[in-house]
Amino acid sequence: MDKTCVLVQELLPLYVDGACTAEGAAVVAEHLGSCPACRTVWQEMCAPLLQAEPLSENSGAASAPEAPFKKVKRHYVWHTVKALVLTALGMWFILLAANDLIGGDGFSLRCFPAWWRARGAVQAVVERDEAAIARRLAFSGEVPEALEKLAAEGVVITGGRAVLSETYLEDMFLLLTVEFEVQADGQCWTVPFTGTCRSGRVELMYIDPGWPGWDAERPTWADALEQALYTYDPG
Ligand SMILES: [Zn+2]
Repeated sequence: MDKTCVLVQELLPLYVDGACTAEGAAVVAEHLGSCPACRTVWQEMCAPLLQAEPLSENSGAASAPEAPFKKVKRHYVWHTVKALVLTALGMWFILLAANDLIGGDGFSLRCFPAWWRARGAVQAVVERDEAAIARRLAFSGEVPEALEKLAAEGVVITGGRAVLSETYLEDMFLLLTVEFEVQADGQCWTVPFTGTCRSGRVELMYIDPGWPGWDAERPTWADALEQALYTYDPG
């Protein structure tokens, strides 16, 4: 084996790690461009990192080692980013779990299932699906009839969503927010309801009193809508 080859192959591990001096890297790169034997060794070193992307046989001598080298660097950057994101996520979950254990206020792991159930409850109300309403909302015996009555009066719930960011604990009590799209008086309103979730079922309470959606005053149908969906049992 050529003396240069021995030297280059000794430097290759550093080169692959991007730990060579600029001078050393230039020498290695130049040699890799002209020596198939060393290039093979280098490619084998890179293979697990590069997912075996073969060098084109016809690529120019100087540019050939350059592109894969950048890929190796990108590979490390990607792994670092991934590790950081996973660490941050892990710490977030630990904080949420800790919040559940100490019974603190704010967001906690319990909020996820509550939000998910609120989604189902919203869908059931929007579709006026009697069976689904009974399954997903507590104390909902009169809800389907009340919704029918409202619809007959021109107040129709056309859509809605549960708001994860507005789902939180307050004094150990879980509060959630759902927003209903309501068509009434020839207008479309987004009406936020506060509620809770206990034993796997959603209980809706009242329309968020501080809601800025009412320009001047609450529309006349708001009370009826609130009564129709009120399914909270304080006892
Ligand atoms: Zn060589």
